[in-house]
Amino acid sequence: MDLMNQNKVFIILIDSLTHNDLQKCPQLSNLKNNAMHFPNAQTIFPSLTFSSISSMLTGLPPNKHGIIGNFYDRTQKKKMLFQDVRNWDPNAIATETIFEIASKNGLRTMMITGFAVGRICGRGADIILEPTYIKYEDIASFPFEVPLSKVPYWISEQIDDSYSFHVDDVNDPLGQKYVDNPDIWVMQLAKQAIKNDASDLLLFHFPYLDFLKHYYGKDSAEVNNHLPLLEKIIEELLSYIMNKYDSPVIFIMSDHGSTEVTERITLPIEDNSAIIIRNGGLSYLYSESNSLINEIQHKILSSFGSKVEFVARPHELSPYYVVTKDIGDLTVCFKGGVTDSHYAKAIHGSLSSSDMGIFLSLIGSNLSKGFHENGNILNIAPTIAEILNISFSNKTKERKDSLL
Ligand SMILES: [Zn+2]
Repeated sequence: MDLMNQNKVFIILIDSLTHNDLQKCPQLSNLKNNAMHFPNAQTIFPSLTFSSISSMLTGLPPNKHGIIGNFYDRTQKKKMLFQDVRNWDPNAIATETIFEIASKNGLRTMMITGFAVGRICGRGADIILEPTYIKYEDIASFPFEVPLSKVPYWISEQIDDSYSFHVDDVNDPLGQKYVDNPDIWVMQLAKQAIKNDASDLLLFHFPYLDFLKHYYGKDSAEVNNHLPLLEKIIEELLSYIMNKYDSPVIFIMSDHGSTEVTERITLPIEDNSAIIIRNGGLSYLYSESNSLINEIQHKILSSFGSKVEFVARPHELSPYYVVTKDIGDLTVCFKGGVTDSHYAKAIHGSLSSSDMGIFLSLIGSNLSKGFHENGNILNIAPTIAEILNISFSNKTKERKDSLL
């Protein structure tokens, strides 16, 4: 693609958006025809929000950037779950993000998210706005020490502060308690950012669709009622961006798909024989003893052999290869809507095509419209680097073509 003279990049990231969702949006169903569109675009395994967004922003798979979803920290002897992400190491990502690379090249970047992904995946962005950040009084005590000077001047009393997302509530993993819609909050900030800010790379992350799918189901009334709002958000943001800039490049994409839960199973793990960390479409099992793990694996196989796949010490060429220091001693990957999650109506994280498929379209005046093969979330960061004319050195053999 001809990317010369284009120097503003926007990512509109709609969490778990699929082609099927977009078909329910009459105004947007033409979007893919007016864009560079990747109908078979794929995310990485595990197809989880933190892993996928980390891959999107580093161009690397989880075994390189280190973010594998919820896990058990053997050193701290502590469960690390996304809902208490405040406890996560801010340097959890083991490699440079596109924000850091852009920053080294003198460019300005911003990430606005309605979920707690910014503090992990957005490292290096000049401005990260997520619900807890916006509460000025919290900023000073925030473990990441976001200086007040980083709060942009244009954020003011105009922001509706009624929405606050308590990420540290372990008893409310799906955030049932917050009734307000985080996408509206992100939209308010995104509009102000486009109007007032001079960043070169801006990421707007809308998480609510995924929350609704988890809580109510993929094709629930709640999801269907939310889609018209998403449609309006995308349309409005596109027109805001187009009115302000001559030749921006805009990514409209998702981080993963989702699968409706069809069967809930309980893994046969006796008390204290292993620690289980659930991630919806997969679970990590940790045990002190190899023989206990082998025993558990054997029991799971005899009870649920057709419903799970195992990833015990996977070979480097395996699609399950996500080996990091945090990986479980056994990874149980569920098939086709099976899960050990207690609550979710829809899940993701597995290798199934419904979890791995993502929405991916690029809009830009110099881009060739039409359908393209081989879209992958690993290609996003290097493509952004090319558009911004900066060098990109995160290398991986998993990424076949460096550019979209
Ligand atoms: Zn997600």
